[in-house]
Amino acid sequence: RDKIIEKNYEHLNENQRKAVLTGEGPQMVIAGPGSGKTHVIMHRLHYLISYGPIYNTYKVPEGITKEDIDILKNDSNHPRAKELLSYYAIDPRSILVITFTKAAAEEMKQRFYNMQDINSAKSQGILFGTFHSVFFRILRSAYGYHIDQVIKEDEKRLVLKKITEEMEIEYQDEQEFLNDLENEIGLIKNDLIHLSYYNSMTLPSEQFRKIVSYYERYKSQHQKIDFDDMLYHCYELLRNNKNILSLWSNRYKYILIDEFQDINKVQYETIKLLSAPYNHLFIVGDDDQSIYKFRGARPEFLLHFPQDFKNAGRVTLDINYRSTGRIIDISSSVISKNVHRYQKEIKTINEKGDEPVFIQSEDGEEEALHIAEWILNWKKKGMAYRDIAVIFRTNIQARALVDIMLDLNIPFYLRDEIPNVYEHWVAKDILAYIKLSKDLKDNESLERIINKPKRYISKGVIFEARKKNGILFENIYKTPYLQTWQVNRLEELKFHLDSIKNKKPGEAIAYIRKNIGYNDYIIEYAQYRNISFKGLKELLDEIQEAARHYESYEEWMNHIQNVGEEMKAGKRRIVGEMDAVTLSTMHGAKGLEFEAVCIAGTVEGVIPHNKSSSPAELEEERRLFYVGITRAKKYLAISTVKKRYEEEVEPSRFIEEMTKKPSLEEFHKGISIYHKKHGRGKIQSIQGTIAAIMFEKGILPRKIDLKYCIDKKIITIEKDATN
Ligand code: ATP
Ligand code: MG
Repeated sequence: RDKIIEKNYEHLNENQRKAVLTGEGPQMVIAGPGSGKTHVIMHRLHYLISYGPIYNTYKVPEGITKEDIDILKNDSNHPRAKELLSYYAIDPRSILVITFTKAAAEEMKQRFYNMQDINSAKSQGILFGTFHSVFFRILRSAYGYHIDQVIKEDEKRLVLKKITEEMEIEYQDEQEFLNDLENEIGLIKNDLIHLSYYNSMTLPSEQFRKIVSYYERYKSQHQKIDFDDMLYHCYELLRNNKNILSLWSNRYKYILIDEFQDINKVQYETIKLLSAPYNHLFIVGDDDQSIYKFRGARPEFLLHFPQDFKNAGRVTLDINYRSTGRIIDISSSVISKNVHRYQKEIKTINEKGDEPVFIQSEDGEEEALHIAEWILNWKKKGMAYRDIAVIFRTNIQARALVDIMLDLNIPFYLRDEIPNVYEHWVAKDILAYIKLSKDLKDNESLERIINKPKRYISKGVIFEARKKNGILFENIYKTPYLQTWQVNRLEELKFHLDSIKNKKPGEAIAYIRKNIGYNDYIIEYAQYRNISFKGLKELLDEIQEAARHYESYEEWMNHIQNVGEEMKAGKRRIVGEMDAVTLSTMHGAKGLEFEAVCIAGTVEGVIPHNKSSSPAELEEERRLFYVGITRAKKYLAISTVKKRYEEEVEPSRFIEEMTKKPSLEEFHKGISIYHKKHGRGKIQSIQGTIAAIMFEKGILPRKIDLKYCIDKKIITIEKDATN
């Protein structure tokens, strides 16, 4: 039997096949990017629904006799053997496949059904989902939850806002404050931390606990649950209710999980419950690609899997099918700088391929243009847009790229986590100033910015002014008890609005920031809220940079509207349906692959991001970069800028790490080298550490201290296809 089946998986390599054809019980596959982990999951599914595990220990299928089993064991040429195989096949409805995002789950499903030899009728019923979707399904069947009972993000926000208002907690900006609060409430649930032991990072812990308990009370009174509850409640339900647990663990006997390195505690504990007692749990992952620590992901669960499941099978995959030799060398050289990791070997059968190209630009705008040219160049050479991706560290970097894509009519997909910068409150403030300058009757805009910066126009005054019909600005003047100094502030505002009225958008923003004092307001705001000013400044810089391209407000506003619509369209597009370039953050690109990948904005402060400074955070940044570059199959471009928002920046340290430091012994007479300053050359002779090198650009050989150059990383050995 084994032989017949094995033949069907001949195209897999030995270790992949071993994983796919493994018996029942827990199984872990740990391996680097592009080694076929997801591929193995696909084939494992195929195998389960076509043949079933070879050692089906807990049930003999109906209709199978003792003789049959003998045939299967000993006589694979028997006419009945082939037919008998299918008796062991697993019902697809008992298989659960989990991954982390909706998009990824959808992509896995597509990938599975696109596999050759998938008999669609027979394969129907496998459940592909995210932890959230699966756990909610379980909750729903127990409590009869209706989808309306799930608190939507805006309702949750409103409830938390109300609670904090009633508790008279001071904050200046709602959005930021509530963001932090929501994240923290999520974290304690994901990590199964008991509230009474928890120290808050946003508020005094006492206050934080109170908010949480009010929030919990609200939800139970209204019979609602939120996104985090889906995980936590499901865990509680299965833990406390043996009947329900056994119902579900009997239903999904086979559980397969991709990207296991990003699992968090509550997810892991729930999966442990669900997969017991048989533990037909098949997990694949790569600790080097763990990039969700901030949301409670714990790669330790992957690494310690064999301790938790004593009889776990364990396979490592060591052949990379995705990328060229150079890309693999480069990425290994980068990730090897991480101290806390599980060492993995990786070989490739692919050719060495091209060196990465470096795209250098003055600033972000020029960079976007250069990247667009790079895309169009590939397109001209016959590559499809869908084989190209631009990957970046932070959402904000999407702004310039989206702009250029719109200008040059290049279709794009936007991975769904990327927000529109113009929808951020800072952008809205700026736009409100501009709109108000054009039209003093724009009451909404006035209300938005009247105390940004502080003009000491109290809520009471605005309330009074609002009671009267007409123009708010004028009504404020008419409110009783308005003091002269307040009037002066209003006059000053009017003067400023008049000054920006006819400016170009870019200049207007500069004026709002400096002369009106919006920058100072933001600094003060950040201090007050105890958050980093950097992120907000970056956003302002980005908006200002974007605006500089427009001559008039109308033109700019049109563009903003266009961006809003196109971004929505770009998100709605289904990958594969249209020929479009993918724009994604490093987080969003996990698991994907493209012929050509460009990493945008590869400079210090962006990647690694300036908010990450501890050694552990730097390792996470390095993993992010690693995820980015390992998406490339054949061509990798690394883009850097000299200036970001008018300030000089350094190339990312990860670029240096892409070049392995050669050792002195590797330098011999006759080999070709590359020197950062002098360019290409050939070594004529070596004495001690001093080499005489004939540079292509030179006339006479030059004496170079190899040791010094190696230490300073300014020399590399040029490898050609023959060595
Ligand atoms: P990541 O860690 O980035 O998610 P992965 O380990 O899941 O990577 P896959 O996406 O499964 O890797 O595989 C990478 C590429 O290699 C895919 O295009 C896949 O089809 C191909 N591949 C995997 N195994 C084989 C094989 N045995 N023969 C040919 N191609 C293969
Ligand atoms: Mg994968």
